Amino acid sequence: MDDIAKVVKEHTFGTWRKQRDWNPITVTKAEGVYFYDSQGKRYLDLSSQLVNVNLGYGNKRVIESIKEQLDKLQYISPAFATEVRMKAVKSLLKVMPRSITKFFFSTSGTEANEAAIKIARLVKNPKYKIIARYRSYHGSTYGSISLTGDYRRWFAEPHIPGGVVRIPEPYCFRCPLKLKYPDCNLACANYVEYVIRNEHNVAGIILEPITGTNGVVVPPKEYLPTVRKIANENDVLFIADEVMTGWGRTEEWFAVNTWGIEPDILTTAKSATASYVPIGITGVSKEIGEFFEDNFFAHGHTFEAHPISLSAIPAVIEEFERLDLLSHVKAMGKYLGERLMELKERHKSIGDVRGVGLFWAVEFVKDKNNTPFATYEDKYKGNTSSVDKVAKKLLDEGVYVFNGPSWFVISPPLIIKKEEIDEAIDKLDKVISELDKEYRE
Ligand code: PMP
Repeated sequence: MDDIAKVVKEHTFGTWRKQRDWNPITVTKAEGVYFYDSQGKRYLDLSSQLVNVNLGYGNKRVIESIKEQLDKLQYISPAFATEVRMKAVKSLLKVMPRSITKFFFSTSGTEANEAAIKIARLVKNPKYKIIARYRSYHGSTYGSISLTGDYRRWFAEPHIPGGVVRIPEPYCFRCPLKLKYPDCNLACANYVEYVIRNEHNVAGIILEPITGTNGVVVPPKEYLPTVRKIANENDVLFIADEVMTGWGRTEEWFAVNTWGIEPDILTTAKSATASYVPIGITGVSKEIGEFFEDNFFAHGHTFEAHPISLSAIPAVIEEFERLDLLSHVKAMGKYLGERLMELKERHKSIGDVRGVGLFWAVEFVKDKNNTPFATYEDKYKGNTSSVDKVAKKLLDEGVYVFNGPSWFVISPPLIIKKEEIDEAIDKLDKVISELDKEYRE
């Protein structure tokens, strides 16, 4: 650790870990799909950090747009109208699903989901329960961690009083219901109706259209349309958490477009500003917007609709158009998927490769029964897994991946080129051999 990292480690928190295990690298600059440490060593960012630097680093147009806003108006209370807020909204309306027509702006995905829960409860009052899935992440503050299904929720018990009901997810690689698609007849989706009927007071259901941090779980094609239909028929709001899946990651502006779903509430964050400035967005339908005409909108923050954050949004959307990025994601996604499948052929410790666009998971197993290298219980105890160690080896080789207990999330900046994918695959190929050594026939 250099002197910078020592001070950072001593006086600030490294999150989601025991502090003793945190040995941060000092990063000094970044460009395109690469970032650099204080020794000048280069790292290919194969996960866009936390699946959020979708335009890569150093996009001049986005930077310029933020700088211009800083010169014009740095801050004003959200009670005032601003030109930058008008422009952000006009751009968003061009790319959001048609059902979404009104927005609340905050500064993170967590806050976007906090607002979503509150809105759902206000609109559907006296119904107040929210359905969420076990294999999910929706944020770290009390409301959103209560929605979250993975081990991170365990640290925050007891949760918000009343009202989060959890359901199994369409994780076909290890079906929680021990069924096989398509013979299962979408049991996990149909179960939602049973839960709604029996819980009675359900205001909304929140889903990541493709589960993100918990291993890029792409649902079977009928899953989301089925859940959307059940929500409609039972007067339950459908909330799509697109914090990770939005902004071109899946070849579409938003993942719900893949299945033609129109959510009642859509939350997003991360790459709406290319991550150069913080943002959280809670988009709602016309009906929800109208509800608040005569009902108190009981929510808000000092940094809500911050001019500097909003200034990046139109520039991001223009960059997508100028670079024809959705087509590029489609082409590069196909190539990346093929290359990852080749790795699966070569490495017995790869149990599954799944994904869409530039959003993939490589899931590792240590035997033919698909036993994972580590579980949520291991993460909860703060144990390091062999997969963590191999991710560290990969970093030494100059490639960064964001990993779960037994998988890598492969989600490079959307601007990535073929040669850069090849560079990453070569390094992956090398380090995954370490996991093969632990595989038991
Ligand atoms: N929802 C999803 C699906 C996420 O992936 C994340 C962050 N990984 C969040 C919510 C929380 O967003 P943030 O970290 O910006 O608070």
